[in-house]
Amino acid sequence: MIELVSQERCVSCNMCVRVCPTNVFDEGPTGLPVIARQEDCQTCFICEAYCPVDALYVAPYADPLETPPLQEQLIDSKLLGSWRETIGWGKGRTRLAELDTTPFIDRILPPRKATS
Ligand code: SF4
Ligand code: SF4
Repeated sequence: MIELVSQERCVSCNMCVRVCPTNVFDEGPTGLPVIARQEDCQTCFICEAYCPVDALYVAPYADPLETPPLQEQLIDSKLLGSWRETIGWGKGRTRLAELDTTPFIDRILPPRKATS
């Protein structure tokens, strides 16, 4: 569940507002997004992946009864923006698709023709 928008990192690009499939964010009065409908979050990580400055944190196992983590804790534990780093989005990172060696495509497509 979306837990945090870093006020310090956010550059008000509004990408998260646009990409969220369940319309969780609103553009706030200062231009920064606000988490307006947290209960609608599907923990899909799309917003975190698209945020260009690693300003969002989506907690994979959030319990609504838990106290949300503080930004300092997320930075210290390197969790802020960690999903985007994991999938390799962002300058200088290796995209997950480049590392994936799963022969998935070979299971759904006809065998490739041998080239000589
Ligand atoms: S994790 Fe997905 S559903 Fe939740 S706020 Fe981000 S984009 Fe929206
Ligand atoms: S995508 Fe990131 S930088 Fe852009 S508005 Fe959302 S939190 Fe701010």
